[in-house]
Amino acid sequence: RAKTDKKSKYRIFETQMDVEVRERRRVATDLRRAISRTELEVHYQPQVSFINGEVQGYEALVRWQHPELGHIPPDRFIAIAEETGQISEIGRWVLERACQEATTWQNDEKIAVNVSSHQLRSLRFVDMVETAIINSGIDPRRLELEITESVLVQNPEMTMEIIHNINKMGVAVALDDFGTGYSSLSYLAKYKFQKIKIDRSFVQGIGGNAECNAIIDSIVSLGRSLNTIVTAEGVEEIWQLSQLQSAGCDQGQGFLFGKPAKDVDEFNKGSDRQIQMVLNAQHWNRRET
Ligand code: C2E
Ligand code: MG
Ligand code: MG
Ligand code: MG
Repeated sequence: RAKTDKKSKYRIFETQMDVEVRERRRVATDLRRAISRTELEVHYQPQVSFINGEVQGYEALVRWQHPELGHIPPDRFIAIAEETGQISEIGRWVLERACQEATTWQNDEKIAVNVSSHQLRSLRFVDMVETAIINSGIDPRRLELEITESVLVQNPEMTMEIIHNINKMGVAVALDDFGTGYSSLSYLAKYKFQKIKIDRSFVQGIGGNAECNAIIDSIVSLGRSLNTIVTAEGVEEIWQLSQLQSAGCDQGQGFLFGKPAKDVDEFNKGSDRQIQMVLNAQHWNRRET
């Protein structure tokens, strides 16, 4: 009896593995088709100034509408695409698409595009960015590339050279998900990012978790001394906005201001009155001190 129990347990384990392997394989196969058949889309999420409430830019976020499986979130296919190398093609497509669409926007907002560490393995990446700029005709000063700390750890010299070349074109570089990776603070001085994005896990801990407030405060003062813009990610509540703004954050992004959407004009219809009130009050306080 014990023997069969063991066996059936093993079989369950085996089946779960199979399912996982099969799903990964399917995603990889279907992605090939998705790229060529335009099942991919780019959505945009507003980045709002904490000084005046204006939308200063949008982050481009890839979306996959699978014909049978429906919407597949990036967290379920980006990692797989990185393993198979498909991320290079997806990344190029998103960049080209985002630059093109941004040229049709009314107010010349900035456009931030995520870049995977796998794309930063050769200087050809710089040529690809240049091509996207030329093809779309976008002003390079409107473009911002978001990279994560992992790149700095994996490939510090190449990344340094790429960032240098990107900056020379007038394109900004932002450090995404800051505080969750393994990089040391010395990287910040060395790379001179134009923007640091505080990871949303810290924003979500505001109030209930004293450590999160302390970390946010120190990222803000770090940003001040390095002359870097500090953006807060994942702002969902009005009281988080209020805290972040008193902490001295420059900008925020999150469901409070708007979820990622296909059409950016939706966001320009004047932001929420409650948000404006918090921003105005803080603005007033700042001017008085
Ligand atoms: P990310 O670059 O940190 O992007 C922010 C993520 O947080 C997005 O998830 C966004 O929808 C989500 N978010 C924004 N505001 C809020 C909020 O208030 N609350 C919560 N809970 N979430 C919020 P999304 O679109 O699912 O993307 C997940 C990640 O996938 C991105 O994280 C990025 O690392 C990656 N990704 C997305 N698009 C691309 C792309 O085109 N290329 C690459 N390489 N990675 C991408
Ligand atoms: Mg990002
Ligand atoms: Mg992020
Ligand atoms: Mg992320």
